Parts: sequence; C-alpha cells; structure tokens
Amino acid sequence: MASEPYRIVVVGGGTAGWMTAAALVRFLGPGFAVTLVESDEIGTIGVGEATIPQIRMFNAGLGIDEDAFIAATQASFKLGIEFVGWTKGARYMHAFGEVGRPNGGVPFQHSWLRGRGEGVAQPLAAYALNNAAALANRMQRGLARTAAMLPEMPYAFHFDAGLYARFLRDYAVARGVVRHEGRIIEVLRDGESGDLTALRIDGEREIAGDLFIDCTGFRALLIGETLGVDYADWSHWLPCDRAMAVPSARAEDFTPYTRATAHAAGWQWRIPLQHRTGNGLVYASAHLSDDEAAGRLLANLDGPALADPRPLRFTTGKRRAFWQANVIAVGLSSGFLEPLESTSIHLIQSGIERILKLLPGRRITDAQRAEYDRQAHQEIDRIRDFLILHYWANDRDEPFWRARRETPLPEGLAQKIDLWRACGQIVREEADLFSEVAWLQVLAGQGIVAEGYHPLADQPLRADLAEYLDLLAKLIAREVAQMPDHAAFIRQHC
Ligand code: FAD
Repeated sequence: MASEPYRIVVVGGGTAGWMTAAALVRFLGPGFAVTLVESDEIGTIGVGEATIPQIRMFNAGLGIDEDAFIAATQASFKLGIEFVGWTKGARYMHAFGEVGRPNGGVPFQHSWLRGRGEGVAQPLAAYALNNAAALANRMQRGLARTAAMLPEMPYAFHFDAGLYARFLRDYAVARGVVRHEGRIIEVLRDGESGDLTALRIDGEREIAGDLFIDCTGFRALLIGETLGVDYADWSHWLPCDRAMAVPSARAEDFTPYTRATAHAAGWQWRIPLQHRTGNGLVYASAHLSDDEAAGRLLANLDGPALADPRPLRFTTGKRRAFWQANVIAVGLSSGFLEPLESTSIHLIQSGIERILKLLPGRRITDAQRAEYDRQAHQEIDRIRDFLILHYWANDRDEPFWRARRETPLPEGLAQKIDLWRACGQIVREEADLFSEVAWLQVLAGQGIVAEGYHPLADQPLRADLAEYLDLLAKLIAREVAQMPDHAAFIRQHC
C-alpha cells in the first residue's frame, strides 16, 4: 500500500500564499498533498505591484505563458526604477541589466570614471540600454541588435497584485491544490515536540499537516503569534513606517519604469499599469501625519484618484528565525522592507526556491532549518544595506533627511562605500541580490564621488577611450530608436 502523502499546508492566500502553493504543486510529485487556507473576511494587503526581472524565471518555471500573464494581470513592462530628488535637483535610474561593457580587462565603471575625469564620457545613463529605452518609453523583447557589443535587455513587470494572486490561484487549484476558505481560530500543537499538527477553522473544520508555510502577512499567525519568534526591528536605519496608497486613472505618460520621488519625509512611488496607475507615499510617522501624507499624495498624482487613499502601517525588519519547528515564514510574515527596490515579491520567490531545495522529509533536522535561515538572513540583510544607501547618501535639508545622513551605517555598507570612494571598485558579496552594476548606478546616482579607478583603465590612449565611449552611446541610441513604443508593444503582443 502506498504511504500517506506528505501534507503541506500553506496558510494565507495573498501573493505569498498563492505563489507558494502554485510552485509546490508544480514541482512536487504525487507523494505530496498541498492545501491552502485563506480568509475572505481578513483579505489580503492588496499592494505590491512592481517586480524585478527574476519574476520571469518564476513564471517560466510554472510554464506560464508571458503574454497570457500580462493580459490577466493588466501588467506593463518595467526596465528599471527612476529616482527623483534623492539629492537636490537630481534624477537617475537604477536600470536592470548592464551598463557599458568591460574595456581593457576592467569593469566598465573604471573606463567611465577615467572618461569623466578627462571630459570624454557622458553621464552613466548614456551607456545603459535599459535606461535609454525606459526614458524613451520604448520596449522590445529580445534585441534586433545593431552590434554584438550590446548586452541583453532584461525586464520585469508592474502588475495588479490582486489579479496575479487570482491568476495563480486558478493555476494552483486546477493542478490539485485544495483550497479552504475560513478564519483560523486555533492552532493545534504536539505537546511534546511543539510542532504544529493542525489548524482549526471557524470552530468546525480541522486541517492537519506535516509542514506549515506561514503566509499570513503582517499578522504572522504561526511564526509570530503561535511560535513567538521575535522580530528584529530595523527602524533606526529605515524609519519609514507608513504608506498611503491610491490608484489613479491611467496617465498619458505610460512609462516602462517605476518612479520613486523623494519628499520631505520619505518618497512616493508611481507604477503605471494598463488599467490604472498605482501610487503610494512612503513616510515616517514621526515626521509626517497621515492627513499630511494623504494631502501630499493626492496633490502629486498625474491623473484623477480612483479611490480614497488607503493607509498601511509596517515596521521594517525581519524575523529572527524564518523556520521554526515545522513552520516556515514566507512573505510579509517573515519580514518587511519598504518597496524602494521592489524586493518583497522576489523574497517570496527565493523563499520558495529554498523550501524546494531544503524540503524536509517527515523528520525535520536542525541542519535544514539552520541552512535555510543562514541563506534567508544573508539575503535580506544585503537588500537592507542597498536601501539604506539610497537614504544615507542624500544632500536634502529636511530634518528627516539630515537624520538619515547622520545615522551610522551597517559595517559592510560603510566598507563598500569607502572602497568605491577610494578606487571605484565594487565587490559583490555572497547572496547579494544586487549586482555590481546595480550598486554602481545608485552610488554614482546618489552623487558619491569615486576618487580613483583601476590603473588598467589608463592603458588605452585618450582618443581611443573617447571613441569607444562614443561608439557605445551611439549604438545604444540607435538600438533604442528602432524599438516600438511601450504602449504599442503591449497592444501588439499581449
Ligand atoms: P497578505 O497579502 O497580507 O496575505 C495574508 C493572507 O493570510 C490573506 O489571504 C489572509 O486572508 C490570510 N490570513 C491571515 N490571517 C488569517 C487567519 N487567521 N485565518 C485565515 N487566513 C488568514 N512587493 C513588491 O514586490 N513590490 C512592490 O511594489 C510592493 N509594494 C508594497 C507596498 C507596500 C506599502 C507594502 C506594505 C507592501 C508592498 N509590497 C511590494 C509587498 C507585497 O505587497 C507583499 O510582499 C505581498 O503582497 C505578499 O503579501 P502576503 O501574501 O505575505 O500577505
């Protein structure tokens, strides 16, 4: 007789829950039974619309047709994030993909730094295909490449998170995930081991499991409330603790990038979707009241608001353990970083990948838990540092921003900035989601000056360097000029 299936219970039906359930049912065989519990009464957070290119791998892994996904979620393409006003009067883009090409055996930034010093280089943006395409409102999948010298053009999406969860729910249920609707009122545990054994819903139904994935959002019903795993609070580094979100009518300016505009006590996002634009003000409640935030948000929309502004509260930080007993936290229950670099949905994705890699049998070992936690801590800590950099390297006058400059940096970040300043070098640490090129764009974009560069960048003659830089910028401009308009591209393909 076949043994009983291994029972995995996904608790919560937001983006985290349905991404997890969809991936588990796709990648695990018939020996597993996947159940999901969600409560319509409690609902989901309903924000979370900008992603990074890795989401494409997730969708592809599930075998999802990209055009069908774009149509179902009202998605638009995203080539990067534009930062406006983080230093006085400046704007720059953290675009996905490469910037320039290595020249003379050293990473591009060294040639660029030399070129800037000698007056033969343009701003960094001129050498980034994604940046140029984004600002020109152009989009193309795959390149009609004018020269092999140009890199690929990676992209992500803006999408309606509610529609994405619904899309994945249909996918998961069609493949065998059993869905239960109802509010969990009791969590049952084994008296000896402390492991969870079952969930009681609305006083009647009982759902038993071997492994529980906590996707209950900020409530953290299992990892926090039930198991008491503590939360590491990062508010001293990242003090924004509120967001005010509102959709507005789709704007004329249908940009293939997210915009993050700094304001006196935080920043505002703008995320263009096909059917509307997503907007939100992220702010520190110590510096801005909710009413002021709502007023500021509504005054800075580029189309009429489609609803009343909705307040959201959060504490930036992470769980001290992501896997405790037989519970693994995925999504907001595991921690939260503001959406400045659109990383939350990616953290869900990488949590799911880790679960699949370290999937326990009926006996969970401390070694599995420890390795899961080691990787998860490293990943979120590196992202935290990247976000802090945006805030720290500002020259604004408001008290909120002055305080950001004066807050001591985490050690690894301080070293990274020192190294860049000294010699233009960027070293990617283990588990860092962001590449050297991502760091380069933010370090340079926030106005941190590198005082040196690699000596190998001095080898080409000045005229050769100038010609190389000029050629690169021209190739990018020519490639972009051939691309279709973003809105037209979606109309034609999706
Ligand atoms: P939720 O959506 O809150 O889902 C929780 C689920 O648990 C619900 O289904 C609920 O019904 C269920 N539940 C809870 N308690 C019970 C119970 N007792 N019984 C039964 N069911 C229960 N991410 C990005 O990647 N990009 C962005 O641009 C972005 N922007 C964001 C902006 C803001 C202001 C915030 C706060 C977050 C943003 N995020 C973003 C994060 C993103 O929204 C979340 O990571 C994502 O939606 C996952 O949420 P979740 O599924 O963990 O939680």
